[in-house]
Amino acid sequence: MNKKTIRDLELDGKTVLMRVDYNVPVDGQGHITDDARIRETIPTIQYLFDAGAGVVLMAHFGRPKGQVVPELRMQRVSKRLQELLLRDVQTSTESVGLEARAMAKSTAPGQVLLLENLRFHGEEEDNDPNFAAQLASYGDVYVNDAFGAAHRAHASTQGVARVMKSQGKPCVAGLLMARELESLSGVLSEPKRPFVAILGGVKVSDKIGVIRNLLPQVDTLLIGGAMSYAFEAALNREVGTSYFKREDAPTALELMHLARDNNYDLRLPSDFIVADRDAQDAKTKVVKAWEIPPDMMGMDIGPETVKVYTEIIRGAQTVLWNGPMGRFEVAPFAEGTRAVADAMATATNNGALTIVGGGDSAAAVKQMGLADQMSHVSTGGGASLEFLEGVELPGVAVLDDAV
Ligand code: ADP
Ligand code: MG
Repeated sequence: MNKKTIRDLELDGKTVLMRVDYNVPVDGQGHITDDARIRETIPTIQYLFDAGAGVVLMAHFGRPKGQVVPELRMQRVSKRLQELLLRDVQTSTESVGLEARAMAKSTAPGQVLLLENLRFHGEEEDNDPNFAAQLASYGDVYVNDAFGAAHRAHASTQGVARVMKSQGKPCVAGLLMARELESLSGVLSEPKRPFVAILGGVKVSDKIGVIRNLLPQVDTLLIGGAMSYAFEAALNREVGTSYFKREDAPTALELMHLARDNNYDLRLPSDFIVADRDAQDAKTKVVKAWEIPPDMMGMDIGPETVKVYTEIIRGAQTVLWNGPMGRFEVAPFAEGTRAVADAMATATNNGALTIVGGGDSAAAVKQMGLADQMSHVSTGGGASLEFLEGVELPGVAVLDDAV
């Protein structure tokens, strides 16, 4: 990792302005259903307190599109943060302005202030320099601990850091951000071999950059999930009523050519679980990849594929997984995804480095109770994909380089 972190700074008596990702899922009543994103910033905040700093937090919640939406106020998040931190959390009713400024200025060491939802201002996503300058005046040090938002060049992820940098103030990564970057860059820089990547999920077009970037680096790349049917269609095989994008087929074909011409080991499923419809009580059967019936849909990788894929995964020293193998949210189609997660857990126990990226893949691993058996489960869906494409994330690029 080539960026400075809060561990590199003298923070006693400083006010730290920190971007966090508190965009947590809520139910119909607005109750937080998963507080992992808040929970995972606690070590960073605690570290800052122990180092003698006061903390001003910036975050966004939902999509208020530049307007004040009362249901999207940070109040609930603030309450949960308070419960997790076991400390009083101040909350301002605006993200910039006289009140916010006064509250930020009076944030003493060991105190924390959470600013109101940044996206109540269109200026946040527009990366407006004036908005950024106002926020920048609330701290002596900029910290970004929001890996999940680092692929966006917004005011709080890039503009504020630019302003503070120009004022000679340090801009560094928080502990959560550092852990994300260390894990992902560790995989790509000098992976222990065999290095296996598993790519699944829905759209080839979303992940083509990742596949293209990984193919030359990995020993084997395994394809699964709905994107398999784009490859099947590209081979002119029947795909029945499988969920896939017809316009992805040429991209899939291009990737197969790339693999063939360079001797890259790109694997497709050899069999599938097909169903008459997408439902718990659907009629299902196992078919060869080239025998999908015209009136059925492919919902998961089949048992033969599971056997081949899991053997390859268990024998790997580095495993990177993005995208479920099937429609895992529906029980009869969860087996392929579960088997991959299990094989990765075994690989971890055998000393392999195992990384899971992607929002739905992370959810699958959690749902299966295997998250703590992976070396790292990334908190940033889109950000981890862009990282794996080899794109430099604007929210990371702007941070101070380690010397
Ligand atoms: P991630 O968020 O991990 O990057 P994606 O968003 O690309 O993954 O894809 C996840 C979704 O793909 C899941 O909701 C899953 O149900 C769906 N999916 C995977 N395989 C299939 C399939 N064969 N048919 C329909 N949906 C599928
Ligand atoms: Mg997803």
